[in-house]
Amino acid sequence: MEQQKLFLKNCPLCNKSNFSNFYKYHHIIDIAYSYCNSCAIVFQNPTCSKQEWNNSYKYNYRKIYDNSTTPTESSLLLQKLRAEFYSYIIKFQQSRLQVSFGC
Ligand SMILES: [Zn+2]
Repeated sequence: MEQQKLFLKNCPLCNKSNFSNFYKYHHIIDIAYSYCNSCAIVFQNPTCSKQEWNNSYKYNYRKIYDNSTTPTESSLLLQKLRAEFYSYIIKFQQSRLQVSFGC
């Protein structure tokens, strides 16, 4: 089933509309992230509805990425590395903002 793209116009955390493109890649489908300039959260944008996310994680996610119904060791390691990568990017962007405000 094709998922509907839902373009967010406001941050899902702080509801502000001041965000920028953060990161985009293609893995099975095109995936793009936005970075909120107000609260620094990174979120997938476009995304899909809550019901579509629930169904996707419940029925499809592990089958697509792990060929399993439970997370594999390699999948858990990948998620850990991904979290570290995004944490590094966020810290870099925050330090860049601090420099621009300080000048
Ligand atoms: Zn925000």
